[in-house]
Amino acid sequence: MSSSRAQIATTLAPPAAAVPLVVVGAGAAGIACALAAARGGADVLLVERAAAVGGTVADALIHTIGGLFDETGAPVNAGLPLELAERLAAADPRGVQRRIGRTLVLSADPAVYRRVVQGWLAEEPRITCLTASEVSAVDVADGRIDRVRLRIADTGEHDLHPRAMVDASGDAAVVRRLDPALVEPGAALAGLVAVLAGAAPGALAFPKGVALIRRIRAAAAAGELPPECGTLWPDSGIAAGEVYLKLNLSADSFEPTRMDAVLARLLDWLRTLPELAGAELDRRGALGVRDGGRIRGRYRLTEADLEAGCRFDDAVCAGCWPIEHWHPEQGIQLQYLPPGTRYEIPLRALQVAGIDGLYAAGKCLSAEPRAQASARVAGTCWGMGAGLGVWLAAATSDDAETA
Ligand SMILES: Cc1cc2nc3c(=O)[nH]c(=O)nc-3n(C[C@H](O)[C@H](O)[C@H](O)COP(=O)(O)OP(=O)(O)OC[C@H]3O[C@@H](n4cnc5c(N)ncnc54)[C@H](O)[C@@H]3O)c2cc1C
Repeated sequence: MSSSRAQIATTLAPPAAAVPLVVVGAGAAGIACALAAARGGADVLLVERAAAVGGTVADALIHTIGGLFDETGAPVNAGLPLELAERLAAADPRGVQRRIGRTLVLSADPAVYRRVVQGWLAEEPRITCLTASEVSAVDVADGRIDRVRLRIADTGEHDLHPRAMVDASGDAAVVRRLDPALVEPGAALAGLVAVLAGAAPGALAFPKGVALIRRIRAAAAAGELPPECGTLWPDSGIAAGEVYLKLNLSADSFEPTRMDAVLARLLDWLRTLPELAGAELDRRGALGVRDGGRIRGRYRLTEADLEAGCRFDDAVCAGCWPIEHWHPEQGIQLQYLPPGTRYEIPLRALQVAGIDGLYAAGKCLSAEPRAQASARVAGTCWGMGAGLGVWLAAATSDDAETA
């Protein structure tokens, strides 16, 4: 179901209080949460600020979905994350498992991913999805979520009184609006992905890709390339001749016009290499924020939990991605978990401390920065959203006393 004003009129008025569950943010976690809750029998309002659903994967051009499979190829979480992999593979035969280091990712064209999740949401009659809309205010009464004010593009503001709300905004935007003290600051570099077309076949095949990374680093250190290229990660794409370039940057100092100049210089330099002589800039993504802040939850997932493969009696999903921390000063710090390790994420890490009925899912969960650096991968965000959605469907049903 896509956004439409007619839908808003029939769905929200009167009285708005009829909506049991509001999910803010239609990225990996928010979509999974909405789908799982709807399948569990809840009516869900999914609110997305951007013009289209898909979140970071679609907007920032992420083409390698991590956290769906472990290193042996076994699914990490059954249910919706696995169904996502199946739907992507059915939509595009290039959606295959791919080994990167000791991990297995699912290759996915970000545009195909967007189409797949858009179509999937449209199949679910219990979900009303509003794009170009956002939550502009939240009130708490007697320690629980009370009024939620929605700003819907051009149609003004609408008040709701849901039984529960999930902040799946990626940066805890709603919880921050309620009380900034409930959000820990982000602690990772952001990233900008640009996609080239027209590279020679096998341009980044081993060992050429590794050699290219070394040459780029040396060129950045020597001043032949802008410093932003110092941690650049080039990767083969989905279509023949595609190369994905991942630049890692501080979100605070990001300037779009400066990045135009950086990309132009980089492209000139890359074209001096025989394999990339015919390359052209095909598209670039929005700035992708790896850690825009995490909620202070009833539990804070720790690095030690990950390393020990911790289990919880209120687990919503499992994760096993390495700790891939893009440290703001030191750059990439990659630490694999011990072989075969799977950790769990408890519901308590998705519950905002001290406020009943208010949850977070996805990369803004309650976690130490290095724990979030594993749990934030898109497949794990799908697992988190799905597990929370199942739980919320039961908790917001008419029979439940409170969410
Ligand atoms: C540069 C970079 C590279 C990455 N590489 C990989 C990779 O290779 N593999 C991998 O698996 N993961 C990767 N990730 C991580 C992964 O893509 C994200 O962590 C994950 O997709 C986050 O999902 P999410 O649902 O938590 O948030 P998001 O996907 O960011 O979704 C949040 C949504 O909420 C919306 N929103 C925000 N504020 C509001 C508001 N106030 N009201 C309404 N809507 C709002 C946003 O528009 C967005 O659509 C990468 C991330 C980055 C930044």
